[in-house]
Amino acid sequence: MPRNEPQRSCLSCRTVKEKKDLLRFVLAPDRTLVPDLQAKLPGRGAYTCPKKSCLREAAAKKQFARSFRGEVRSGTPDELVSLVAARMEERIAAYLALANKAGKVASGGDTVAELLTRRTPGIICIAADISPDIGEKVAYQAARAGVEYFTLFDKERLGALLGKALRSVVAVERGGFSETIRKELERYRNFFEGGTDAT
Ligand SMILES: [Zn+2]
Repeated sequence: MPRNEPQRSCLSCRTVKEKKDLLRFVLAPDRTLVPDLQAKLPGRGAYTCPKKSCLREAAAKKQFARSFRGEVRSGTPDELVSLVAARMEERIAAYLALANKAGKVASGGDTVAELLTRRTPGIICIAADISPDIGEKVAYQAARAGVEYFTLFDKERLGALLGKALRSVVAVERGGFSETIRKELERYRNFFEGGTDAT
């Protein structure tokens, strides 16, 4: 008999999904609501779809308080959404830093542009504040080479992740790190998808 994955329902839309396809939250001892992106924290969990819209709705309708039977400290619904987005960004940042420590990263607009003429990296991160001409050049070359690229963080944060000064572009070699970053990025994008409704 196939073993069924444990399922839970979204606090907002009530859709039942496998636990791994939902966002998990736990309650800290001081009743602060804690996003548990890796689904590893101890204690009972409450779940929403991994989407901004469901998360905001669940918070706005006090579903976390209902689920945890009492007040929870989570700030406003928008603050909770921002917190989860920030945690997702932190994970992407952490994997970029790890890939760098493992020697799997090339950085800098010119270096990456040059690299793209010779090799195909797994994924490229472009700083949001890159100068438009370099940004367009790298994006064009990446698209032509069939390399996925995304825009996140600013030059200062990208540089800091690598222990360097400002960095406008970071390329991660094809392999385990680039695949993990791709998955984290996909989750991050899906979180915002269809979630622009302010109501
Ligand atoms: Zn939902």
